[in-house]
Amino acid sequence: MSNLNIQITLSEKKKDKLPTDQLVFGTTFTDHMFIADYIEGKGWHNHRVVPYAPITLEPSATIFHYGQTIFEGMKAYLSEDGVVRLFRPDQNMKRMNHSADRLSMPQIDENHALEALVELIKVDKEWIPKDPGTSLYIRPFMIATEPHLGVSASKSYTYMIIMSPVGSYYEEGIHPVKILVESEYVRAVAGGTGNAKTAGNYASSLKAQEVADREGYSQVLWLDGIERKYIEEVGSMNVFFKIDGEVVTPALNGSILDGITRKSIIDLLKHWSVPVVERRVSIDEIREAHRTGKLDEAFGTGTAAVISPIGEFRYQGELFYVNNGETGELSAKLYDALTGIQKGTQEDPFGWVV
Ligand code: PMP
Repeated sequence: MSNLNIQITLSEKKKDKLPTDQLVFGTTFTDHMFIADYIEGKGWHNHRVVPYAPITLEPSATIFHYGQTIFEGMKAYLSEDGVVRLFRPDQNMKRMNHSADRLSMPQIDENHALEALVELIKVDKEWIPKDPGTSLYIRPFMIATEPHLGVSASKSYTYMIIMSPVGSYYEEGIHPVKILVESEYVRAVAGGTGNAKTAGNYASSLKAQEVADREGYSQVLWLDGIERKYIEEVGSMNVFFKIDGEVVTPALNGSILDGITRKSIIDLLKHWSVPVVERRVSIDEIREAHRTGKLDEAFGTGTAAVISPIGEFRYQGELFYVNNGETGELSAKLYDALTGIQKGTQEDPFGWVV
């Protein structure tokens, strides 16, 4: 099947590994990384696994000036039987190509990208932590490398994969977070790049996050860019509400990222015959649901936390508590089901795990 010729250069010295309880997200990297280069007219070439190390770029490279870059985030899990599991990696590769298209970057071959990832994981398999709740975080990304200051799509690119062992997101058990509703800054607008995983979306989100941090809130709830009325996402997660027994999540509208956890949650809820709808959700509706006692649960979804229950919202000085600030029953059930499928301790009725 494969026609990828991956050159492997092993590192001479292996790095020390930290105990999992000392791992800080995204700060420790495995011994190796994957790299492939692209030049217009030639396509992708020079696929290689090499020791993890700094890379050299021209200061004039497009990435530094115009932000032509995209990335993905996914995890590999090691089960007790020693099997390495990836959760829906095809969806990450597909989204990478969607992002590439939006940023005028070249498409990757999704099968080759998966093959490269599997090869890299094989080389660094001993880096996958085994403790409950731990995993290997995988960061594929692509950068524009052409040394040229004109504002135009680069003619050369580099695709890389780096990997980082991560400890349990919920070291002290799953517990709800406090969310500040952001009514000045916006994350993205329809027609912009909100549904692509590209650096600019994250750079422009930092300012609002700083305010939230200062005020003792862990993330911001993003509203739409036109009216500051409709809910988009929470931090860098998709968001769900359980209102009067029905689960609702903002419909994909062009500015919301099409989260893989989000779509998996929707499928799971349908599988369990729990009513779930994708539609516009306004912050006024949440305020009203809270006022009438119908706001049962709220949670964010994403690869990092899987499910992050929300215990409190602050909107223009008003506080809405959800489920007395405790983790809701459905949030906990979804967390257990999804992490069980990912770890291989539960049946995978959808064939999501590779
Ligand atoms: N929204 C944003 C802005 C994100 O960065 C992420 C993380 N990739 C998500 C949502 C959740 O997506 P996923 O479930 O695919 O991790």
